[in-house]
Amino acid sequence: MTLKTSTRCVKFGGTSDPYGAIVPPIYQTATFRQPTASEFGEYDYTRSGNPTRSLVEQQLAELEGGTGACAFASGMAAITALTRLVEHGDEIIAGDDLYGGTVRLLEQILPRQGVSVRYVDTTKLEAVRAALTLRTRLILVETPTNPMLSICDIRGLSQITRESGVMLAVDNSMLSPVLQQPLALGADVVIHSATKFLSGHSDVTAGAIITKDPLLHGQIAFQQNAEGAALSPFESWLLLRGLKTLALRVERQNDSARKVAQFLARQKGIRKVYYPGFKVHFGHEIHRSQSEGDGSVVSFTTGDEQVSAQLAEATRLFTIAVSFGSVGSTISLPCRMSHASIPKTLQDRLAPPADLVRLSVGIEDADDLMEDLGQALDIATQGRVRQRNYFVTPTRSYRPNSR
Ligand SMILES: *Cc1c(COP(=O)(O)O)cnc(C)c1O
Repeated sequence: MTLKTSTRCVKFGGTSDPYGAIVPPIYQTATFRQPTASEFGEYDYTRSGNPTRSLVEQQLAELEGGTGACAFASGMAAITALTRLVEHGDEIIAGDDLYGGTVRLLEQILPRQGVSVRYVDTTKLEAVRAALTLRTRLILVETPTNPMLSICDIRGLSQITRESGVMLAVDNSMLSPVLQQPLALGADVVIHSATKFLSGHSDVTAGAIITKDPLLHGQIAFQQNAEGAALSPFESWLLLRGLKTLALRVERQNDSARKVAQFLARQKGIRKVYYPGFKVHFGHEIHRSQSEGDGSVVSFTTGDEQVSAQLAEATRLFTIAVSFGSVGSTISLPCRMSHASIPKTLQDRLAPPADLVRLSVGIEDADDLMEDLGQALDIATQGRVRQRNYFVTPTRSYRPNSR
């Protein structure tokens, strides 16, 4: 009997707990007693392995259709571990609309290790093929990209990487395995910022690398242990807890985002809506052929950076915050926020439009969200400024510039 994803999210990890606990315990221990001075038990030291982390790793591998997973302290720690497999003198081909922190790593850390990076429009297979050299070791893409929601053809890319002996890594943070499983489409590696949908409540920072090749998994696990960036037992437990509602959350958020995107497309004050579910969206057909949903991130422009900022500030149900994938809706101006970390020299090429607004649609009622966006748009386009934080007004005891 093959179980559907929502069932597999919940029905996982029968523990062999002697007391029959149906939730696995948090093995909050740094080290493990060994049977004798010359034998090692299954676990010896938490940096190298911990039962709570093993469970979440098994669950992640299972959900992504991989054979092994490594959980890291953050998405960036996971990506860092992956890039360690690229050696001095080698090259990485990276998409040109990547998460800002990924660009910072590729641009400011990797060159010090003698690894160079080419940014390519990875939505065009020909451009990727043309950028390949004998030194290319890794192609790293996101699809849909963040925040422009461009689509890369995972099957097409995997054909190129297979022919050329290059590794294909897909950052699947935007859709989660509920909506897209890159390993089945030919990718070698799936990356996750588990901070996003996988944990889903904005209370965990975590990352993961999932592979289907045991040899590759062994190399990543070696990095995880050697560099010490593994996920802690408590965070592993929180992530396990989040995964149980993954399908439920993603499905709801996916449905609401469609309504919100359609609503935005009807508004006069909105210039362009970026949403892979629209037929007119560039790459829509490819996206639909490789995924089971359009995700819950919707971006749009207003034609005016000031209007975009005012709109964000006038919403009451969307929190101004970076990140996405949480149960609570968020709104951000990527150019000023998540993507401000793109080095100045690359801003012209890689930064999103200044008036771009990114929404991450949560599990609130979709009608409430649309009504809120409507009133915020009215305020922003009329140039009126209204008091923010309608519901809560915390007293601020710190000076605004003290951070
Ligand atoms: C957030 C994010 C990352 C980085 O993950 P952290 O958990 O914040 O370190 C990497 N890739 C994508 C697509 C992201 O959205």
